[in-house]
Amino acid sequence: MAYRAEYLWIDGKEPDAEIRSKTKILADGAEPGIWGYDGSSTNQATGDNSDVVLIPKFQCPDPIRGGDDILVMCETYLTDMITPHPTNTRALAVKALEQYGDQEPWFGLEQEYTLLDPVTGWPAGFPEHGYPRPQGPYYCGVGAVKIFGRDLVERHTSLCMKAGLKISGTNAEVMPGQWEFQIGPADTVEVGDHMWVGRYLLYRLAEEYNVEVSIEAKPMKGDWNGAGMHTNFSTEKMRNDYDAIIAACESLGAEGKVAEHLAGYGSGIEDRLTGAHETQRFDQFSYGVSDRGASIRIPWQVEMDKKGYIEDRRPNANADPYVVATLMTNTVCGALA
Ligand code: ADP
Ligand code: MN
Ligand code: MN
Ligand code: MN
Repeated sequence: MAYRAEYLWIDGKEPDAEIRSKTKILADGAEPGIWGYDGSSTNQATGDNSDVVLIPKFQCPDPIRGGDDILVMCETYLTDMITPHPTNTRALAVKALEQYGDQEPWFGLEQEYTLLDPVTGWPAGFPEHGYPRPQGPYYCGVGAVKIFGRDLVERHTSLCMKAGLKISGTNAEVMPGQWEFQIGPADTVEVGDHMWVGRYLLYRLAEEYNVEVSIEAKPMKGDWNGAGMHTNFSTEKMRNDYDAIIAACESLGAEGKVAEHLAGYGSGIEDRLTGAHETQRFDQFSYGVSDRGASIRIPWQVEMDKKGYIEDRRPNANADPYVVATLMTNTVCGALA
């Protein structure tokens, strides 16, 4: 029997690249090989020189199609098949991991997202012509008045588990219609692979519900929480030593590093990092124990155990996990080396 491979790749959308995919039918026993697509339709090439090459890098079972069908996460290359396409952010993550893999970097990414009515653009749980009760009861809530979209969330979790992704948890968020899933712990490259495939499964499943999944950083203006991708990070040293935890925090606040990181943390960062709604302002840098108003939070049990990991609270939900993981690895591992 032939089987289907869904080839996935990251496009050239600006700002905030998105995932694309297409299907290849393969003969039984055949491996998914190199493929290509029309880069002029994804903001990655001009029409007169449009071919972009897809090189398979990570694969897992396709839990939606089932059977022998698979998902294949690819990197994009120029037709020389040696030069990564300029938008190939995974190649940079591979480089960072090659350089600093001996420090054993681990990531846990918390992907927040909002379910929207595709016609009105209004979040699930918001009345058609107005606002729900203010924030308070929704975070980790239960009950029909507080929770919208749980069926989709539960099915998405099952799909991630069936695909073998390192999904580590889910929760309802502070704004109605807003949710989160976490991927990790995983290394600099794997966390991006699993996050992008997790996003793909979410969008794909939401088609069935006729719901739009938004990872916009601030989908509702006003007194509503934005959507982030908190980035939990540790190295082998940090998992054993509190001085390394503090050194990691300091490295992220070093001259030039704040701006460099914010530039890779997704569009609309100023709209989300306002200093309110559990954020630090985008133009301030701070770290602190249990502090959800800091740029970097040291979890309370990390201070107690004197070892563990840190949480960079700044990345937006719409950031590219390959970019975020590359920045963290290069900055922190570079300082701890
Ligand atoms: P929060 O309390 O901020 O909501 P979550 O429980 O949502 O945190 O997410 C924490 C993430 O951190 C999980 O994905 C978890 O796997 C990951 N994590 C746990 N320990 C480590 C570690 N030592 N290094 C990196 N990530 C870790
Ligand atoms: Mn969380
Ligand atoms: Mn959250
Ligand atoms: Mn968090």
